[in-house]
Amino acid sequence: MLNERDRKHLWHPYTQEKTAPPPIPIVKAEGVWLFTEYGRKLLDGVSSWWVNTHGHSNPYINEALARQAAELEHVIFAGFTHEPAVKLAEMLVDVLPEGLTRVFYSDNGSTSVEVALKMAYQFWRNRGEERTTFIALEHAYHGDTVGAMSASDASAFTDPFKELLFKVLRAEAPYSLRCERCEKRCDLSCAESLEELLKKREGEIAAVIVEPMLQGAGGMIVWTPEYLKRVRELCDEHSVLLIADEVLTGFGRTGKMFACEHAGISPDIICLSKALTAGYLPFGVTAATEEIYEAFYDDDRLKTFFHGHSYCANPLACAVAIANLELFEKNSTIDRISFINGKFREFERTLSAFNSVEEVRIIGAVLAFEMKVADSGYLANIGQELYREFLSRGIVLRPLGNVMIFMPPFVIGEKEIDWVLTEIEEVLRKIES
Ligand SMILES: *Cc1c(COP(=O)(O)O)cnc(C)c1O
Repeated sequence: MLNERDRKHLWHPYTQEKTAPPPIPIVKAEGVWLFTEYGRKLLDGVSSWWVNTHGHSNPYINEALARQAAELEHVIFAGFTHEPAVKLAEMLVDVLPEGLTRVFYSDNGSTSVEVALKMAYQFWRNRGEERTTFIALEHAYHGDTVGAMSASDASAFTDPFKELLFKVLRAEAPYSLRCERCEKRCDLSCAESLEELLKKREGEIAAVIVEPMLQGAGGMIVWTPEYLKRVRELCDEHSVLLIADEVLTGFGRTGKMFACEHAGISPDIICLSKALTAGYLPFGVTAATEEIYEAFYDDDRLKTFFHGHSYCANPLACAVAIANLELFEKNSTIDRISFINGKFREFERTLSAFNSVEEVRIIGAVLAFEMKVADSGYLANIGQELYREFLSRGIVLRPLGNVMIFMPPFVIGEKEIDWVLTEIEEVLRKIES
């Protein structure tokens, strides 16, 4: 029923509508569970595209949202302000890595990146310096708008638009499989290409943008903290701004509130979205240092940061983001994530023992396993095959190519984790037999 109506007018993201199976109609969700129109129950193993934190339809957040809607749903944010915007900024500055004290609101992860790039670019211009080039990394994903796509590494996603993108220099990034090969004698040689670029382009680079500790859409690639530390050092040595795109990693996903904490570093600009609103509403934050803010603070109106969105600082989104942060405190969510991480680590050996598994990558509440790729037959499409197999067992595990990902909402219970891990084991045993 819903599907027929959907077919008539809708156009889904990242979906080849001609060949994709019909979308699954969801009528209700609660905790880690999604309920379909056909009365099935599915475990949301991808936190609804990596956004959900405290479970679906959480009563505490529902309450905060309803309360805010009854009071003030929205108001223009140029020339006006409101309590939820101010309170959220105060709370964020409290938890963010040190030095990030200026909060700029937008709508989603891609816009939070666009804002960061424009901010870094105009920062140098306002200071009278010509620094017009950015450096980003291999495997990077920063979003789907044109600036964010430019910063992202080339892929099938960006290929149709490549003539449209501005040029971004690309440095080597650590790749865990490669790291394993240099095992235990990590000399950070993977950071040399960044160093070379910074030297060669001395004075031209506005900023380096990275996804700290975990490169998400590029394949769930986990870093060592040493690499991130080295990136910060290199940016300091060459007086270049560091932008941390924590759209995915922010709010606990990697086991710390923010991934930068793993390396004890602070970026000059941080981008937040996804889990910012607990998986409820589209929202983005770009937070910067006072030094950056001051380059725009001037009698000269041309030094204004000319950027804004109709829904900047939407009070509903702010109220939900506040409730999200309050629940991190109330529920000791970071401890909960470390429990989930423990379960994943226990499972690591079982998973690695499978011949079909190339590598297992674990950080915080993220379990990723890369499947070996065969050129033909069943295994060529292994990601999609596994996706369907898990769906038939009641688990949503959306893959990235041949990388399977289990990234549940943090409220998942031990029983549910054990069940999913057992199912993973059974499915792998089945495909290997
Ligand atoms: C998802 C993601 C984005 C883009 O966010 P959207 O809200 O989907 O536009 C940007 N950067 C990273 C690291 C992401 O994972």
